[in-house]
Amino acid sequence: MKYMGEVRQAECLSEEELRCFQLQKIQKLINEKENVPYLANIVGSEENDVPIRSLDDLAIFPIVDKKYIIDNIENFRNKQIFCISSRGTSGSTGQPFKFYRDRFALAYMDAVMYNAYAWHGIAAGERQSRFWGMPFDPKKKREAVLKDFLMNRIRLSAFELTNKMFNKYYLKMCKFHPGYLYGYPSLINEFAHFCRDRGLSCKHLNIKVVVVTGEKLISNQKKMIEEVFSAKVVQEYGCSEVGVIGFECPHGKMHVMSPNLIVEVINDGSSVVDELGEIVVTELNAKSFPFIRYQIGDLGIIKSAQCSCGLKWPVIEIKEGRIDDYIITPEGKKVYDAVLAYTFNGYKKYIKMFKAVQRNNLDLEIKVVLTDECDDNILTKCREDLAQRICSTISITLISVKSIKREKSGKLRYFVSELNS
Ligand SMILES: [Zn+2]
Repeated sequence: MKYMGEVRQAECLSEEELRCFQLQKIQKLINEKENVPYLANIVGSEENDVPIRSLDDLAIFPIVDKKYIIDNIENFRNKQIFCISSRGTSGSTGQPFKFYRDRFALAYMDAVMYNAYAWHGIAAGERQSRFWGMPFDPKKKREAVLKDFLMNRIRLSAFELTNKMFNKYYLKMCKFHPGYLYGYPSLINEFAHFCRDRGLSCKHLNIKVVVVTGEKLISNQKKMIEEVFSAKVVQEYGCSEVGVIGFECPHGKMHVMSPNLIVEVINDGSSVVDELGEIVVTELNAKSFPFIRYQIGDLGIIKSAQCSCGLKWPVIEIKEGRIDDYIITPEGKKVYDAVLAYTFNGYKKYIKMFKAVQRNNLDLEIKVVLTDECDDNILTKCREDLAQRICSTISITLISVKSIKREKSGKLRYFVSELNS
């Protein structure tokens, strides 16, 4: 709540004032150089170090990606600040990445998020109907259930897409009366189809807005969801590392969350506007683990034209996101692909990276990069877990490889379906 006041005030800043506001935050961040070796390596640790006098000076920092941070993780960590959580990414990459967050950074991430929700009439803590994954590990599952309860939300697990579950969830929603829906557009779209096909009305739920995230939104999905729930669909763009990066305003443009982040788009090594390039973010409030000029692995465009809503936070368009999202079983059942990330998460000690390809509905081929600790028994157990969670009739092959090739964007898509094409 403390930071929300600051974020709301930042909505009224002019472009120049916003740059000043961000510069001050950057300078504070760099003051942690005594405690963060990575910062000291770049700006120097003595009195005569490299000064950051304007946001353009940020360019002295190299662009870093996930792999670089994983390889130099201890240099990024500020041991003077107590971190309440170490987080890992599941997201769309098959390489586990553990990083640290302190409570101030976490609070700031939430503050910009709730501030953006408020643009659409959603208050912090308002009832949420969540369309998301559910951990398989019993302890983590209990944590998720407890967190949902505390956060005032109900969840439809992306891994149980049966008509029975959809029906149960519909009845739950009718009792719960969520203020808004949140989750993967493909999953909300599936549920919307289910409701429409069975004549289950959702209009009486008075949903204010549907926030979609994590995947590329397809126009058919948007139309379908808006029709079934009589609510506007708005897009959120973010990642586990720095939280919400962009959020759509009521005028239909996605704004960068400027009080918490600077977003650059890089093409051929330089920062560009109105041109497609790599999205690179600098987080302004994370003293415990700085993400400075961090390349997310998505492509986008920063627009020079301002939004008609009057907000000076830059407008961004995201060009590349995930599209193939379901494993199809021999029986034609759909299983959300995040089941792979959640399952392999339980094997991260043994399997460093993975990538699954589905070419027909009878087989699923998964390339895996193993650690030295992995053996055949573990692979057998992993295959059994996958079969149990996806379906017992699909043939799952694990192929051990030395490395896995990335997409053009640098991102490692962990599931590729060649069925649709
Ligand atoms: Zn706007």
